[in-house]
Amino acid sequence: MTTTDSVLSELLDTAAAREDALGWLAEEAERVKTAGLHRDPVVRRAEQPMINLASNDYLGLSTHPDVVAGGHAALDTWGAGSTASRLVVGTTAAHVDLEEDLAGFLGFPAALAFSSGYLANIGAITALVGRGDLIVSDTGTHASLIDGCRLSRARVVVVDRGDHAAVRDALQARTEARALVVTDSVYSIDGEPAPVAELYAAARDGGAALLVDEAHAVGVRGPGGRGLIAELGLSGAPDLVMTTVLSKSFGAQGGVVLGPELLRSHLIDRARTFIFDTGLNPAAVGAAHAALRVLGADPSLPERLRGNAARLAEAVGAPMPSAAVISLIVGDPRAAVAAAAHCRDRGVLVGCFRPPSVPAGTSRLRLTVRADLELDVIDHVADVVNEALTAVGAR
Ligand code: PMP
Repeated sequence: MTTTDSVLSELLDTAAAREDALGWLAEEAERVKTAGLHRDPVVRRAEQPMINLASNDYLGLSTHPDVVAGGHAALDTWGAGSTASRLVVGTTAAHVDLEEDLAGFLGFPAALAFSSGYLANIGAITALVGRGDLIVSDTGTHASLIDGCRLSRARVVVVDRGDHAAVRDALQARTEARALVVTDSVYSIDGEPAPVAELYAAARDGGAALLVDEAHAVGVRGPGGRGLIAELGLSGAPDLVMTTVLSKSFGAQGGVVLGPELLRSHLIDRARTFIFDTGLNPAAVGAAHAALRVLGADPSLPERLRGNAARLAEAVGAPMPSAAVISLIVGDPRAAVAAAAHCRDRGVLVGCFRPPSVPAGTSRLRLTVRADLELDVIDHVADVVNEALTAVGAR
């Protein structure tokens, strides 16, 4: 036995003698299961195609031939990985071209791409505010904004979703010099829009910058799918930070922060999720850039999406959607899971949101519509969903 072997076997003996440090996991698993909150990722299989109403692929671009070809071309040119962090050698000409074209399309002076939307939000918030500053957020914001707030070490005031008067009050009552207001523009849970114009006015009057996450609005709302900020005529405002993702309407992967040129260079210097993360994958860059060209060339795509969303909402008895999300409250998490399983057994994938993603008692089916769904498919989906809701007693 070598010295290393004997040290190792001694360590293992000590570990076996100790109480298992992860023993609590079994109890936790039981608790989660009993509450009906255990999650099993849905595994999509190539040989078993399903009708997908659970994705964020709102425009159906993830499988568009030009988008797939864009990914292939970038793979051929740059290889399978960006090979390092952006500041080292992980920035290719393709990254810079994409950022310039995205900024141009969305009406901002500059853009910076991160390897996910999650990391873009965390990077932007933590680079803009820190200890001794104030963030005003609301109860509907996405987990990536919440985590950015927590990691920033700023004081965080959380107001009710949509309560822009409370945002105004929190800014006026503050003692901190620097403040940031953060919000989703279209809330991810139910697709309803935030009062972005009112939040912008409150932030401006209170001397704060406003960060708006447009993940569920780009490709869906605004002129040619440019988002809610563009719809409100706020694109390029100097005190506005827009974030969005390449993982939804663009059908690829990645996150983007848009704003003034000085914001971009500040993020390059200070955003830890930019500095210490391997650069966005070249295939995702190429695919997203191709998706941008497809969207730019066909502004009717968002209109088709909204038409499909209206048709499905009417057929499942939901209110007219403001974006691409239709939320059908079931209540009990077990019933929601059973309804989603019923749909899956009939070849239809729908989202199923339960706590902690939504408050207790509001577990739901979440349907995300796509621009590329044919009308007969939408009608079939509606039949399946209605049948599922009836089967679990939610109708
Ligand atoms: N913001 C919002 C509003 C989102 O819904 C999501 C994705 N669920 C993200 C950010 C994170 O984006 P990504 O999946 O690219 O990390």
